[in-house]
Amino acid sequence: MRNITVLKGDGIGPEICSEVVRVLETLKLDLNFEMYEVGEACYEACGELIPQAVFDSIENNKIVLKAPITTPIGKGFKSLNVQLRNKYNLYQNIRPAKSLPNIDTPFKNIDIITFRENTEDLYIGEEVQIDENTVHAIKLITREASTNIAKAAFEYAVANGRKKVTCVHKANILKLSDGLFLSVFNEVAKEYPQIEANTMIVDNTCMQLVMKPEQFDIMVMPNLYGDIVSDLTSGLIGGLGLLPSANLGEDFAMFEAVHGSAPDIAGQNKANPLALLLAACLMLDYLEYRDEATKIRNAIDEVLKEGSVRTADIGGSASTTEFTDAIIAKL
Ligand code: ATP
Ligand code: MG
Repeated sequence: MRNITVLKGDGIGPEICSEVVRVLETLKLDLNFEMYEVGEACYEACGELIPQAVFDSIENNKIVLKAPITTPIGKGFKSLNVQLRNKYNLYQNIRPAKSLPNIDTPFKNIDIITFRENTEDLYIGEEVQIDENTVHAIKLITREASTNIAKAAFEYAVANGRKKVTCVHKANILKLSDGLFLSVFNEVAKEYPQIEANTMIVDNTCMQLVMKPEQFDIMVMPNLYGDIVSDLTSGLIGGLGLLPSANLGEDFAMFEAVHGSAPDIAGQNKANPLALLLAACLMLDYLEYRDEATKIRNAIDEVLKEGSVRTADIGGSASTTEFTDAIIAKL
């Protein structure tokens, strides 16, 4: 029996999380889900955003399925997402945007994977108040982290039969920091002559993604560009409700939706559970339950093809529960 730590999160987190676990449980796998509350609700109850019992569980199980957690804007709180990624050195954030059937977008046959460096860049959150009217933020780029993410992207390409890796950067302006990221990429690329490698400035990348998305296969980039560009790729396939992610390190793995806690629709049973469900599929792939992951993906495809049951963000009127029921019925 393999134990999985499940974090229920804030906002729409608990609603989509319970539905995703319900889907996983219908497969009757040899998995046990340890469910934990974290985030705001937990803070009110026990004074901590993540209680020690959760860290203990993660350290035992080494695998986490995580619903979105709210990061309060402004002073006081450090992002829990960033804390978890740092604490367990989850240096790769892999975000596969793949077109799903019968979703109305201007783009067809999208299949683009963003490899987002996940431990440094502006996300270290080091800001210094220089004077009343001036703030400096530190953008940290290291050879080690840049090498790790570049290698991860190329290794993934080799292992999964992908053809091309594009490095996304702004080295024309940030000559030292993004310059280092870019030069490390170019060095690593030489070790993988069978994979096509190219580089592109981030602003141009955004335009190209909308004009000619078919030129992209795998993209690798520093943390902040990865955050922004992957939301863009979610738009190509029909929105944030559809984009999963895998956060991988050497010893730990955490699977989550790319979207946040969506407080605007929380508690209304109308959030799209697919991003988290597709993240659960990435987790099943990782656990070598590949056939079971395929079963869930096929069930999702069938429900989308039939078209009548879907959540509001993708043009339907079904609730989170009804949408999940339809997927379970196909399993
Ligand atoms: P974060 O800072 O955590 O990335 P955010 O401010 O970018 O959060 P999200 O919570 O990701 O915001 O939500 C952005 C928009 O997408 C909101 O309008 C939200 O309702 C919508 N959205 C996000 N996730 C879903 C979902 N699963 N189903 C439907 N709509 C969603
Ligand atoms: Mg966001």
